[in-house]
Amino acid sequence: MILSQTFICPKCNTQHNVYDIRNTMVYVCENCKSILGRSVNGFARIGKVKDPLYKPLFSLGTKGTIRGQEYTIVAYSERQEYGTDYYWVEYVLMRGEDRKRIFLSEFGGHYTLLEELPAGEIDTVDVSKAYQNYVYQNKRFDKWSVYSAKYHYAIGEFNWDVRFDKPMKCLEFVAPPHMIAMEYAENAREATAFYGTYIPYKEVNKAFLPGDKLPSPVGVAPAQPFSKYINPWLFLVGSAILCAVFLILQIVDNQQRVNNIVFSEGFNVESFSQQKPFVSRPFTLENKTSNMEVEIYLGGDNTWVEAEVDLVNETTGEETSFVIGTEHYSGVDEGEAWSEGHYRQKEFICNIEPGTYHFVVTPNKDQASFGTTMRLEVIWDVTSYWNAIFLSLVLLAIAIGVYIWNHSFESKRWGNSGFGHIRDASTQMPVKADYGYLLKKITNERILLVIAVVFIASLMLSNCNGYRICACKSTEKWKPGQTRGNTPRSGVGRAYFHHK
Ligand SMILES: [Zn+2]
Repeated sequence: MILSQTFICPKCNTQHNVYDIRNTMVYVCENCKSILGRSVNGFARIGKVKDPLYKPLFSLGTKGTIRGQEYTIVAYSERQEYGTDYYWVEYVLMRGEDRKRIFLSEFGGHYTLLEELPAGEIDTVDVSKAYQNYVYQNKRFDKWSVYSAKYHYAIGEFNWDVRFDKPMKCLEFVAPPHMIAMEYAENAREATAFYGTYIPYKEVNKAFLPGDKLPSPVGVAPAQPFSKYINPWLFLVGSAILCAVFLILQIVDNQQRVNNIVFSEGFNVESFSQQKPFVSRPFTLENKTSNMEVEIYLGGDNTWVEAEVDLVNETTGEETSFVIGTEHYSGVDEGEAWSEGHYRQKEFICNIEPGTYHFVVTPNKDQASFGTTMRLEVIWDVTSYWNAIFLSLVLLAIAIGVYIWNHSFESKRWGNSGFGHIRDASTQMPVKADYGYLLKKITNERILLVIAVVFIASLMLSNCNGYRICACKSTEKWKPGQTRGNTPRSGVGRAYFHHK
């Protein structure tokens, strides 16, 4: 708890609360705008500030808690980039814990909390040197801007000698959500360095203006992090790791598969019809619920063949129906040979339980052609990299989306800087690789974790039940006694085929 003392303005006699009178060097009276400097007998008027440009959003004396620290607002100032029309606002906060002055700067509705670093913490020996970036605590801070700043307006108590007449040189480096700001007097060798942290306006709102609404921020601030939930670089690295995990899981899964031809039979299409379907010999599907690849081979040219296939479980009587077909045409036109279609076609049937089965095949063919034969072949429990590749591609698409989104965000950020080449997300990573730290950071990426859980669960469940994600042949299942709709039979799809 910070206690205040009262203080009476020697000029206008207004009573003010002062929180640290012992260390106050300059006090600016909110009422009469007098600048009061410390003198032998307390405070004496040494000048007057100009009129303010804005109305402070928080009044002096307001208390609030940000990230577990209690603060009291003890001063407000409006600062100007010297020689320009850029102004920003800076609140001086007194930290309850140690009474240290912390600065809350605001520009365009964006807030940065800046704490002065102990002397020597930052190598400010040669601040005039044109650093392009500055490495601090294993993070690369990119040079953001160099400018001169002066005070335009101020009220409240200041524990340093505020110079309203003299501009200060400023040098800023950013590594979102942090920044390093250095301030130094013209020609000085030593700078005062501040470590800044971007604070989302909602946190500031909650701390200092509960029950009321602060204006929403505009544009992108120098130290504004790209997203609260996604670090694009970690997302990229994490996605690559996840793809490797998908692949490993798929390899392990594939090694446990039968992947055998369990059925192969050819027949003359003319001998069978809708009234007289072909019933195959039985075959056994072993191991566990899985998938099968059914291949149809066409014997003949310039024709098509199609079959409605019922896969009948001999134990339960359950049927799985699907349609499979193929066509092939070839000829010579104006001396040039052409061909289209395929003699064989594959279909992937998912989620079939193990057991003994037979086929009931109802063929259909081009009525104009004769002597057409077809062959059906079944590979049971097929090994496939489909699920791992499919999920990797989806993840890649998401990662590319994040990259583009991040790039556009960084373009907005660096478009405001005097050193405007766009940095990619990797600049937010440690300068010296620290894999333990990286791994720890990746496991804190919430969105990535959600994706990891959902995708790995999809992969395992799909593999377990013989599904190929988004690539299963559409089938219909029938239980014994169930009335079959007439959809598959009547619809035997001539519509799929076209003739040259
Ligand atoms: Zn006054």
